[in-house]
Formats: sequence, C-alpha cells, structure tokens
Amino acid sequence: MKKVLLSMVAVALLFTACDDQKNEVADVQEIDMSDFYVYTDESDALVSKPSNGKDDPKTCFTMSVLNRNLEANPGLAKKMYDIEYHTRSFIAAKGKPSNPGGGGGGGGTEPPVDNLGVVNIPVYVHVVYSNSNENISDAQINSQISVLNQDFRKTNNDANGIPAEFSGIAADSEINFSLAGVFRNSNSRTSWGTTSAVKTTYPPVTPSTHLNIWVCNIGGGILGYAQFPGGSLATDGVVISPQYFGTTGFVAAPFDKGRTATHEVGHYLNLRHIWGDGRCRQDDFVSDTPSSDAPNYGCPSYPTVKCKSNDMTMNYMDYTNDACMFMFSEGQKARMRAIFTSGGARAELAGN
Ligand SMILES: [Zn+2]
Repeated sequence: MKKVLLSMVAVALLFTACDDQKNEVADVQEIDMSDFYVYTDESDALVSKPSNGKDDPKTCFTMSVLNRNLEANPGLAKKMYDIEYHTRSFIAAKGKPSNPGGGGGGGGTEPPVDNLGVVNIPVYVHVVYSNSNENISDAQINSQISVLNQDFRKTNNDANGIPAEFSGIAADSEINFSLAGVFRNSNSRTSWGTTSAVKTTYPPVTPSTHLNIWVCNIGGGILGYAQFPGGSLATDGVVISPQYFGTTGFVAAPFDKGRTATHEVGHYLNLRHIWGDGRCRQDDFVSDTPSSDAPNYGCPSYPTVKCKSNDMTMNYMDYTNDACMFMFSEGQKARMRAIFTSGGARAELAGN
C-alpha cells in the first residue's frame, strides 16, 4: 500500500570518459536502479518474532522513521534515489583505469577504490536524562566509541567466529570514530519516542561534519533508530536508549556490547537491514550479503538457511544479540564509503 514507484526512468545510462587504452569506443556504464525502494511494509519487519520466548526482540525503528519522513517530505524519495545512483555509480566504477589500484579492466570483483584512506568521524554525544542511571558516565560513552572503532576497523575479538563461508569478505571498513564532545541535559521527560522531539529540543551540533548521537530513553522496547543520508540536517544522527549504549555502567543484556550503535551508524552511513526489509527478492543493495526474507534473533546457529542460502546472521545489520553479530561485508564497506566520495551525501563528514 505504501510502496510507491518512483516516477523516473528506472535504468539510466552513465557515460564515462573514453578509455585511452581501449581506443575510441566510449565506455558506457549502465546503472540498474530497477530494484530500488524507499518505503517498506512495516509488517514485513515483524514477521519473525523470537520463537523461544527467551530473547527480547531487537527493535530498530529506522525504517519506520524513514516511512514517516517520506510522508512528511515529498522530496526525500528523489533525494535518496539520487544518493543511491551516486553509490551504484561509484561501486560500478571498480577496476576502471581511472581508479588506481582497482585492478583495471572493469567488471571484476575488486572493491572500488576511493583513495580516502581511514575516514575519521568526530562524534558529539547528547546525554538526555531524567534520572541518574540515564546520565551515563564518561566511561560508558568511551566504551561505546571503542566498540565503534573495533567494529568498523574489524579489530574486535568476536570476528574470530566468522564462518569460513564469510570470512573472506569480512571487511575493515576503515572508518574511525573520535569523541568530539559530550552534552549533558537533564529533562523531566521519561521517554522520548521516535518522533524528532529529542532532536528539536537538543538540536544537532554541526551535523554536516559531525555524527550526533542522542542517548535518551526511547521507550516501547525500541533500542535505537537512525536517519539515512539525505534526510534533514536538523534531525540528522542516531538515537539510542542508554541501556543499549556502550559496554559498561547502565547496560542491559543481551544488547550490552555496543552493537546497537554499530547497527544504527550503519544505517546512518546508508546500510539497509541485511534481509532488505522484505521477502527474498527484496535486496539490501549489497551484492555479497546473502538473500534473506526476515531478521534473525537471539544467537542463531550456523548455518541458518533462508531463501536457499545461508544467512549472514553475524552481520551487524541483522537483529541478533550483540554478542552474536561481528562483521560488515566488503560490499557494505563499499556502500558506506561511497557516500564519503566526491558528490556523496556525507562527503563533508569525511573532510571532502
Ligand atoms: Zn536497523
């Protein structure tokens, strides 16, 4: 019902510069956008509840917030389409001679080369609390920054548990995070929901160059939510409930290893849920993540088969327990880094 077809040409042609080594034939790169979607059916995200009743459902509200933002902002769908087009063009350029180190020849499996090196993202944390527990310690905040660095640089010990099937594509995303400042705000409000209330009350600070994270009680069992690239700067950033932020202090198992922030920052850097928020054929726009039709919960055993392949249940963009998610793929890395490149939606964040 909510799905809309973008009223634009689904397949566009991108003309790239002539390749000197391939004579006079212009290199035509076709960018297929036919599978792109923005709206998702929220009931699809809820089809698979934990079956054993032991594990709390992991609930990320990012796609629901996106649906709401799309309703409120008619220009957002087009903006996200353009960002997707830029991302796919960047990824399709892998291996081109203009892409030094990319392997040459084009069309291979080499990752795209962005020449950006390790990207550092400065982070502002807004602690919004109604009691002393929610006024989380500096140690708890620092523990979260450490987890982000370990997860995005593939230096966490959990990565040793990646099955052989996926170990070759587990990525060091070469994204680093540094704490730029903490703002502490006392407020009698005890839950903030998923509207923009916390962001309008405590606006983001220089959001074009800094990741803003609000740590406040969301309520409703929701761990966190993020805003994709393309949304309003006034609401740009990530919101996480305090008990799911960091690894020490006021934290609650099984989401006490800082992976809610890793997941939400993944969204903030343009990653979709790994099952694509739909059935088997609805994709997460990442070529090296297997097709799936629903989130996984708890701590799944390997292999977990869906859509005739083994799910990458240990991916940060699934819904498993914090202890059981420990990788981004190379395809996800390329997708995230595309938005840092020239013309990308978060190029300023990377200092471009
Ligand atoms: Zn999510």
